[in-house]
Amino acid sequence: MWRFLSLVGIALLLIGISVYFHIDSLEQTRAFARQGQIDAQELDVLHNVISQIAGSLPGTNVQINSDRIEGGLNFYVFDSRLDKSGRIAKQLVRNCAFIRRNMDMFCDAALVDDFISSRRLDVVPDLGGGDWPTDKPYPTKPISPTELQGLRRAMSSWVLAHEVGHYLNGDAEGHFDEGTFLDKVSSATLLQQRELAADQFVLKFFNEPAGIDIGIYQFIIQIVNTEIKAKLCPDIDLAQVCSKVPSFVGISNPYQTLFYQNAMLHPEYLIRAIRLLYLSMDSHRELEPFRVPVENIINDLKLSRN
Ligand SMILES: [Zn+2]
Repeated sequence: MWRFLSLVGIALLLIGISVYFHIDSLEQTRAFARQGQIDAQELDVLHNVISQIAGSLPGTNVQINSDRIEGGLNFYVFDSRLDKSGRIAKQLVRNCAFIRRNMDMFCDAALVDDFISSRRLDVVPDLGGGDWPTDKPYPTKPISPTELQGLRRAMSSWVLAHEVGHYLNGDAEGHFDEGTFLDKVSSATLLQQRELAADQFVLKFFNEPAGIDIGIYQFIIQIVNTEIKAKLCPDIDLAQVCSKVPSFVGISNPYQTLFYQNAMLHPEYLIRAIRLLYLSMDSHRELEPFRVPVENIINDLKLSRN
């Protein structure tokens, strides 16, 4: 009996310690964000996106890196690359997360930048105006600062609007971390998941003509194409031209969806990106040229149509 009670006591103590450290590390993360540990340009993008989102949340008070609002949504944005002493809670590094318990919305700018640079969306071929032999890799140069800000804005809008979707749907937590986002999942497993429900709020921005939508859906088309390129030319640097992908405006040719038919698993972001495009077709005439390829991919992936 005593032995049992002491085991229970030890277990409770361990739980208490871990809860304490968890809470403590969240508070450390908030403090880190409140100190403005983020690049001014990144902060500018996130501020704009959050203000836009807040405009669509009547009745919800929002603050960013400032004093907590009880009952409101508290955004803490930071850059984990500036955290030299490990103050950010481990689970929040390269993550954007909603945690309902404290009505916190944490977002690490490094997640946004890493996604952009890992897809090589931040560079373009630099041929110096001349021809370049097709058998040699192109030299590349960084996109302009304005273009980079545009990509950051589009990616942050998707990530943050998705997390706000979790808040609106009553979910306890939502995470947009690298792990889950890049994880390969079968489209069937994602069908009824709350991840797709959370993306409904992203569509609000897609479908707002005066809003930030054009940048978001162009970005989403860009990442779908990058993924097709990665599949067709798996050995090239994504900044390079893939000979199997014709230069085009739009989504790569429908026949390329053949590549999707036999592959059961795809990165979660790809499934969600395709579905977002599909759901916004009807309200966007500009997306009409993409209808056929998007519908082909939807069919191949056996994605839900609603
Ligand atoms: Zn989510």
